[in-house]
Amino acid sequence: MKTQQLPPDLQPIIDFHGHLCPGLVLGYRAAKAGMQRIHAMRSEDEELVAIVENNSCAVDAIQFMTGCTFGKGNFFFRDFGKHVYTLALRPHGRGVRVSLKGDMFREEGRDERIEQILSMDEHELFDIQNVTVELPQHARIHESAPCSRCGEPVMETRIEKKDGKSYCIPCFNEL
Ligand SMILES: [Zn+2]
Ligand SMILES: [Zn+2]
Repeated sequence: MKTQQLPPDLQPIIDFHGHLCPGLVLGYRAAKAGMQRIHAMRSEDEELVAIVENNSCAVDAIQFMTGCTFGKGNFFFRDFGKHVYTLALRPHGRGVRVSLKGDMFREEGRDERIEQILSMDEHELFDIQNVTVELPQHARIHESAPCSRCGEPVMETRIEKKDGKSYCIPCFNEL
């Protein structure tokens, strides 16, 4: 697919991800569909949270476009292997669930698939529903203590104990 045919707001996402691929374009469409609706229901003091149900190329577009990231604690991965993207608002959990309909990727080639995903109507591509979800808690900062085997500091909630000693998980697994 020729670069000049691409929507201009897709380019920074390609730069972020490192290449153009059908998965990324799918994430771009899903984020667009979700963001449009969430903007309408969002007020100033509500925090956006994204929940993704796969770890494909698509989730890079979701992170880039929503600003929700793994490090900020407002991006959650549920390993269900599904193209389902939920955007919700803290604290109440109201949001939108965008799920891929079954019958896409009819086109064979990679460029054809990209083109197809970009040109399809969003309601043809996705089921889009308003939902209320239970949101995971904010990430908390925990104290650390050194592992008695490797000496590296470990967050207290991840320390494993054996015979009165504290271990990090990799060391504990090798005991
Ligand atoms: Zn990719
Ligand atoms: Zn260790």
